[in-house]
Amino acid sequence: MRKIVIAGNWKMNKTVAESVKLAGELVAAAKGIRQVVVAIAPTYLALAKVAEVVQGSNVKLAAQDVHWENQGAFTGKVSADMLKEIGVDYVIIGHSEQRSYFGETDATVNKKVRKVLSLAMTPIICIGETLAERKEGRLESVLTTQVNGAYAGLSADEALSTVIAYEPVWAIGTGVTATDDEAQEAHAFVRSLLAKLYGDSVAQSISIQYGGSMKPENAAGLLAQKDIDGGLIGGAALKADSFLGIITPGEGLSK
Ligand code: PEP
Repeated sequence: MRKIVIAGNWKMNKTVAESVKLAGELVAAAKGIRQVVVAIAPTYLALAKVAEVVQGSNVKLAAQDVHWENQGAFTGKVSADMLKEIGVDYVIIGHSEQRSYFGETDATVNKKVRKVLSLAMTPIICIGETLAERKEGRLESVLTTQVNGAYAGLSADEALSTVIAYEPVWAIGTGVTATDDEAQEAHAFVRSLLAKLYGDSVAQSISIQYGGSMKPENAAGLLAQKDIDGGLIGGAALKADSFLGIITPGEGLSK
């Protein structure tokens, strides 16, 4: 059985005070959630305060990025040990905004994934094609390169401790969502890539989230798809009621 994991990526939104407030609202709202794993990713600055708010609740803490080195002269960066120390469970790695604005590559994704796994946190590995790549018929080759790059050198046991977020870049923050069928097709392909690397049983155990303008109105349809095991949510995660409106349809689904 795969876990349904729904994570809110707050990006560069919310002050520390606003983050603490939203986290508190979510902790209260998610009290009745039993099956879905709920996680929130505030900014680095707010992580420690939000960690105090979610402690003992069923809301997990996620970071938006990490550096692969332990410490040293890496201005602006945060290490995995620092995240671990304050109780981070999940780390988003390779988000398309990191890839397009900040020079993230499949090689740096791989280094970050290894570091996060070595400290028993769960990487959420983001992959996805741009509109141009999709139009040029390169969807499968892009996903293949990204998956093979992210998982290079990882054992099956390590792979089992990862989550993938399939996020078509053209759907992120645009209001345009992949249709249920488009998303399911891409997810099935990603799972087939994992099966090639690790065999079917491992591939069937790895949760693959969908990301890209997911909201309460389209969550039920997407989450009902056979190979969609949750969501990575941007805009709709910035308010407790809309985030909860995505989480609730995930309850009771078994994958
Ligand atoms: C994201 O940034 O991962 C994302 C899916 O954003 P949005 O939900 O706003 O499209």
